[in-house]
Amino acid sequence: GASGPPTLLDNLNAAQRLAVRSDRDTVAILAGPGSGKTHTLTSRVAWLIDHVGYKPEHVIVATFTVKAAREMKERIGKALGNGREKRIILGTFHSIARRYLAAYGQRIGLDQKFGIADDADSRAIIQRIIKRLQLTLDPPMARGWISKRKAKGTGDNAQAKPQFGGNQSQRTRELETCYAEYQSHLERSNLLDYDDLLVKCVELLTKFPSCVSNIQSVLIDEYQDTNGVQYELMRLFAQKHRRITIVGDPDQSIYGWRSAEIRNLFKLLQDYPGTDEISLEENYRSSSRILDVSLQVIQQDEKRYKKVLLPVHQKGTKPVLRKLRTSSIEAEWIVSEIRRSILMSGKMITHDDIAILLRSAFLSRHIETALGKAGIPYRMVGGFKFYERAEIKVILDYLRVIHQPNNNDSLARVINTPKRGVGEATIKALLEEAEKASMSLWDLLVKHCRGDRRANTNIKKNVENKLSGDFIRLILGIQKRVQEATPEKPFTLVEMIEQLLASLKFEKYLEDTYGEDHEGRWANVKEFLGLAKDFMKEAQDTEAEALPEVEGVDQVKEVEILPRFLANVSLSSDAQKTDEDQEQKPMITISTIHAAKGLEWPVVFVPSAYNGSIPHMRSEDSDEERRLLYVAMTRAKALLYLSCPQYSSHGHGEELELSPFLEPVPLHYFAERGPSFDRPVLEELGRILNRQVPLEADIYTSMPMLVSTEDDAFPIDPEDTYKVSSRDWNGSGGSSAGVSRPSKRQKL
Ligand code: ATP
Ligand code: MG
Repeated sequence: GASGPPTLLDNLNAAQRLAVRSDRDTVAILAGPGSGKTHTLTSRVAWLIDHVGYKPEHVIVATFTVKAAREMKERIGKALGNGREKRIILGTFHSIARRYLAAYGQRIGLDQKFGIADDADSRAIIQRIIKRLQLTLDPPMARGWISKRKAKGTGDNAQAKPQFGGNQSQRTRELETCYAEYQSHLERSNLLDYDDLLVKCVELLTKFPSCVSNIQSVLIDEYQDTNGVQYELMRLFAQKHRRITIVGDPDQSIYGWRSAEIRNLFKLLQDYPGTDEISLEENYRSSSRILDVSLQVIQQDEKRYKKVLLPVHQKGTKPVLRKLRTSSIEAEWIVSEIRRSILMSGKMITHDDIAILLRSAFLSRHIETALGKAGIPYRMVGGFKFYERAEIKVILDYLRVIHQPNNNDSLARVINTPKRGVGEATIKALLEEAEKASMSLWDLLVKHCRGDRRANTNIKKNVENKLSGDFIRLILGIQKRVQEATPEKPFTLVEMIEQLLASLKFEKYLEDTYGEDHEGRWANVKEFLGLAKDFMKEAQDTEAEALPEVEGVDQVKEVEILPRFLANVSLSSDAQKTDEDQEQKPMITISTIHAAKGLEWPVVFVPSAYNGSIPHMRSEDSDEERRLLYVAMTRAKALLYLSCPQYSSHGHGEELELSPFLEPVPLHYFAERGPSFDRPVLEELGRILNRQVPLEADIYTSMPMLVSTEDDAFPIDPEDTYKVSSRDWNGSGGSSAGVSRPSKRQKL
């Protein structure tokens, strides 16, 4: 056939090219990390639009994170030109579902002004129900149960009853009660939780297939982590033409705890016979030594679906496995290795190239402290919820009340913030009163304050005055400005937030409430304003969220920016300002492993690799934990550092064991300390990263009095480092073959 535009098929190997150009309706690429799945999917999207001729607005692309969506859009944009990528319906399953519900949800009885209950909201609601009804349930467990129950889907994946001993045990009954209460609470407050977004969208597209009758093709990245409802949604999006492309890797399935089902992979092959199955067998990301050691870990799982994965790159330096006495010493060691790699490489490696990947968000504490002391800039991604900071939540709750005053939860949280003399007891009484009168808290307050005294009133006169004069007038005032805004005289989101902050005297409030801490918090508020500005800019130049017209199908156009902004906040766990600022300093990244999926860095640290952290002590699926470690390790291109503290920094400082996933890996796969960064090492790193070794690098290697070894960079008490495992580095069996460089002092 004719060859496509040059940019589309360049940088693809033969198998990738086959996948990009496949003219089968369904294409499935199952392949290992770094084999170019995302790269191939991106190219296929561009191919379908540019070569096959689908309109961008008739293509749906689902990614797993907001960040991945943004990156993919950018890459497609480069291949397509003309800004056509902006019209693609591209985002996470949740954000795509939300867009459909905003446009068509009224057909299934949704109130157009629905809000979204994020994870924290859901948790809080469930906690309150459990307390109020005096149930004996553990709140996170109940939350997980309810979510699983919803996520199992409505298709033949459905598995309504949980597997507990007796059919109607006390616990099951309590769970059912809690579920029912939770659901009716959401409905009353006109909220959808994450699961509802998907479930309702399934309902919509099942009943009204015409809403997606324009869709030509559906493409999905990270397919291994889709759950039953998402599978259903994919099937419905593609119901007209049944054209689906999926890419995924069963070895990287890490969301089983959120009901992701690897089985969906095999279901797809059954449901769509004639699928073009393509495997990619070359790893373009990591050095062969990093790949080898990662495979040593994943191969411990004997039930796994085996695939070929061969390195394209050279050997590189050995991954480092190091045990240090405590978490804070571990963190200092990481800092010294970061500095050394930047300095010794003559800045071939910069801060931007480095990531520290953590099993749990709480593990960041020591690392943040050490980085802070050393003045190394960092950004946090995933799990570290910017939007869950107290000062930000207050602003968000106000915005939610402005948008949707009958959201009792948000209203009850801010009615006395800043303090207005409305105590807990009053709020509780008001809520009960509202419930009795079957009205929302907001309607009740407005009624009271307008002097309608038919309802028996529980509010004291002075409180009432404060509420009506201050709180209610504030909300009504902003709502009024929203209504009066016109395209010529707009009332922007940023203006709204600024007015809110001014009316609340927010800076003063922070000062009064947080004392010494208030400056940092005010800085967060400013950051939040920056995010709102970014959002406005993006929304403007993409007309973003609105769906394309489908002939003969009416839709509601979302004109207001506030609900879109609020939804965006609820759906992105990885808030981060976009890097339009050219002057942005290079920064290292601290991320959870879950949020690092699909990404890559030249240098990766995986600290706290101890038993109890990975596998996590509360995890029930140790295979999934192993896959998680595999995902972390395979993010690294050139340098991989695994480490583990000897003693816990919690409780009584118990001794910790190395992760059982690393323990069986023969020690000759590892080095005991970071590489020397002499010329030959740097040359090889340069080839792997496709970079030139800068001349400055030679300064350090040629002048021995400058820092050149880890011993100099990290001169610590020999007492502070310990044997990596029960086996001795230098002990019998010759396992010291793994040591890249004889150390001057014998520490281990
Ligand atoms: P993961 O499973 O971790 O998501 P992946 O299979 O999606 O990995 P990509 O992220 O698409 O892999 O690609 C990994 C790296 O390899 C990227 O830097 C990509 O640009 C590069 N790459 C992919 N294919 C090729 C190729 N044919 N030639 C050169 N580089 C490639
Ligand atoms: Mg990928």
